[in-house]
Amino acid sequence: MHEMGIVLHLAKTLDELAEEQHITKIGSVTLQVGEVSGIMTELFTDAWNYFKVRHPVLTESELILETLPAVTYCQNCGKTYETVKYGKICPHCGSPETYLLSGNECIIKQIEAETEDGTESEETVTIE
Ligand SMILES: [Zn+2]
Repeated sequence: MHEMGIVLHLAKTLDELAEEQHITKIGSVTLQVGEVSGIMTELFTDAWNYFKVRHPVLTESELILETLPAVTYCQNCGKTYETVKYGKICPHCGSPETYLLSGNECIIKQIEAETEDGTESEETVTIE
């Protein structure tokens, strides 16, 4: 399952971050999920709930998912358009010479966390 792998990676990243930054508790994690990344948000939440109880810093955390719109670039006319609406054919000139600019990624936009000394910190991490 695709989602399990990403959540596993995410949990590992957060564990490492917690150790580095002396984070004792993660409050919320905002994740941007690309529209065409193939990630099913329901499965993702299930996987998250499975993993969070196994990671002490994540136990009380909340996962917030945001959709990142997919954008395609046309090499023929140089314009961009909505991938989900038009697919691989450019709606401006009808060319199939297009490629995906964004919408295939999964990015940690924001993490709200509490550190050992009681300060709150915010982090931004990109999942490769
Ligand atoms: Zn075009």
